[in-house]
Amino acid sequence: MTGTAPRPPRRSALLRATTAAAVAVPLCTAGWFGWRALDHSGPAGATAAPAASAPAASSPTADPASAPPAPTATDQPGTADPGAPADGTAAPLTPPVAPPPSTTPAAEAPSAPADAAVLTGRTVLLDPGHNPGNSAHTAEINRQVDIGNARKECDTTGTETNAGYTEAEYTLDVSRRARALLAARGATVVLVQDGDRPWGPCVDERARAGADAHADVAVSVHGDGGPASGSGFHVIMPARVVAGKADNAAIVAPSRRLGLLLRDRFHAATGEPYADYIAKDGLDTRSDLGGLNLSTVPKVFIECGNMRNSTDAKRMTDPQWRQQAARGIADALTAFLTTQEKTEER
Ligand SMILES: [Zn+2]
Repeated sequence: MTGTAPRPPRRSALLRATTAAAVAVPLCTAGWFGWRALDHSGPAGATAAPAASAPAASSPTADPASAPPAPTATDQPGTADPGAPADGTAAPLTPPVAPPPSTTPAAEAPSAPADAAVLTGRTVLLDPGHNPGNSAHTAEINRQVDIGNARKECDTTGTETNAGYTEAEYTLDVSRRARALLAARGATVVLVQDGDRPWGPCVDERARAGADAHADVAVSVHGDGGPASGSGFHVIMPARVVAGKADNAAIVAPSRRLGLLLRDRFHAATGEPYADYIAKDGLDTRSDLGGLNLSTVPKVFIECGNMRNSTDAKRMTDPQWRQQAARGIADALTAFLTTQEKTEER
C-alpha cells in the first residue's frame, strides 16, 4: 500500500511485529512455481474494453482531506516512498534483463502486445513496492527522507493478507512476471529491487531509479491495506509537485495517460473491479508520494487489490491471478510505449 496522508499511523509497531513474524517464513518463493515467461493471451486482454466508466475526473491535486480515514488500514502511514538512508544510497539497481537476442526489430511496431519485438529499444522500470526484508530493518526504513513537499519514512513494511501473505512478496512476484512478459516483447526491464537487498530502497531512491535506468516509463506495484469491507484496485497518478527538490511537472500529463491505460488494461486482464473504498473509477491523484513527486520519468502506482479484503486476498494469493495482473501491467506499458506519438495527452 501507499499509505495515504490521512491514514493514521496507529498500530504500526504492532504491525511491524506481525509482519516480521510472517516474513520469517518463506520469502517470495511461492510465486515462483507459477513462473512462466509466456504471454498466453496478451492481445485478448489488451483489446477488451474497460467494463466500467469513463476516466475519472480526478482532481489535479492530491486529496488528503477528502479521503476518509481507513479504520483498518494496516500499513504505516507513510507509504511506499523511499528515501535513502545513509548507508543504502549507493545500492545498485538490479541488472536489466536483456531482451531475447533472437528477436528482430519490427519496422512498424504495432501495438499488439504479443508482437515479440514491439518494445525493442525501450526501457521499463518496475518498482516492486516495499521489500520482504523491511520488517527486519525498521530503523533503516523509518528514517525520514525528503520528498520535496514533505519528509516521509524511507520505506514501509507494507500490508499483508490475514493469512500472512505479504504485500512485499506479492509485489516482487508480480513485477517479476511482468518483467518476463515485457522482456519477451523486446523491452529492457529494470527492477528497483529484485529480492537482492536486505531492505528498501527508500522512496527517493525508487523515484530516482527511473532516470538512473534511462527508463521511458515506470510503474510501482502495490497491494493495498484498506478496510476489510472494501475491495477492488486503483491506480495512483502524480499530482503536480514543484517544491524543494521535487519538480514532476513534466511527467504529470504522460503519467495520466499511463494511468488511464493501466486502469483499463489491468481491469481487462484481471476482471478486478475498481476500488469501492477509495479513489474514483479506479483512479486517484496524489501529491504525498515520494515515488511520484521525485520521478522524472512518467510513473504511476497501482494498488492491485485490497489485501485486507478476503475476496481480493484470495485472488492475490493465486499465482494464476498474479499472472493476469502482470499481463495487465505489461499490456498497459506496451500500449503506452507504442502509442505515445499518436495519442498525446491533452
Ligand atoms: Zn504498498
